Amino acid sequence: MKIFGIFGDPIEHSLSPAMQNAAFRALGMDGCYHAFRVSRPRLKDAVIGAGAMGFGGLNLTIPLKEEALSLDFLEADDLARAIGAVNTISFSGEAGEEKGKNRIQGYNTDGWGALSALQDAGVKVKGSRVLLIGAGGAARAIAYALDREGAEVSIANRNLKRAHELAASVGGISYCLCDLEPLVRQADVIINATSVGMREGDGRIIDSRLLKSHHVVFDIVYNRETELLWDARSIGAAAIDGVMMLVYQGARAFEIWTGRKAPADVMERAVRESLEERRQRKSR
Ligand code: NAP
Repeated sequence: MKIFGIFGDPIEHSLSPAMQNAAFRALGMDGCYHAFRVSRPRLKDAVIGAGAMGFGGLNLTIPLKEEALSLDFLEADDLARAIGAVNTISFSGEAGEEKGKNRIQGYNTDGWGALSALQDAGVKVKGSRVLLIGAGGAARAIAYALDREGAEVSIANRNLKRAHELAASVGGISYCLCDLEPLVRQADVIINATSVGMREGDGRIIDSRLLKSHHVVFDIVYNRETELLWDARSIGAAAIDGVMMLVYQGARAFEIWTGRKAPADVMERAVRESLEERRQRKSR
């Protein structure tokens, strides 16, 4: 049996084990995926250890994605380097083989996940005017993916310096959150890539009166239905939640590790069922 895993800290709320194990089961593969709590200072030892034990592959999450680029043995691809973060690691060579035969490679599949979620919902990204709100890790990956796909990207962030830096590196235009009104008016697609909406009572990143029915509103928050998505749905705009981005970034990682086409529908069902179970547990 091949072991796969996700490293992060905290990690107990990760939906990846449910999602990836469902994929292995659906394809009848002898794979098993676990979550491991790994702190930043232990990342190097943990990755080397996983390679030595013959793991099939890894995902990384907060706070390890950026740290991974400083591992001297990790060969990160150009996209992961440009984004500045690695969320997927593959091992080639068998455990115990002499050094040189083993390669540890790093990728970033978050942007792919976001793009696939938009395309899955029928959005034509090329040539679209996209307002991307946020300039953190997820926004960086999405900005690169949108730029590669030929979208016209405007980036608005609370911390303007971060927005400037991201726009300068991907070629978009940066704005302050206070500029949202004209930006929303001009946009075809609006993406919330901030953490606003993760918690009940967070409030709204966009005044609901600015949304129009022609907008496509994509909120990458996946743990709950956000107020932004309620607002979009209530005026008949297209509303996409963060679950499909999570599923497609995981599906891409699965394909990198196994070379098999990932069963995205099965993975989506596993994520939505886990979220529903959590909701019910919380309301009890
Ligand atoms: P991050 O690197 O910490 O970035 C957080 C972003 O949110 C920054 O742009 C930050 O702005 C902004 N922000 C936080 N609080 C804010 C507030 N009160 N008002 C305005 N802006 C605020 O986090 P991340 O990794 O990019 O994750 C962001 C969100 O995406 C999280 O909800 C995460 O769960 C979700 N996510 C989803 C997926 C998926 O697959 N669906 C994947 C990754 C992340 P400043 O720069 O001004 O601080």
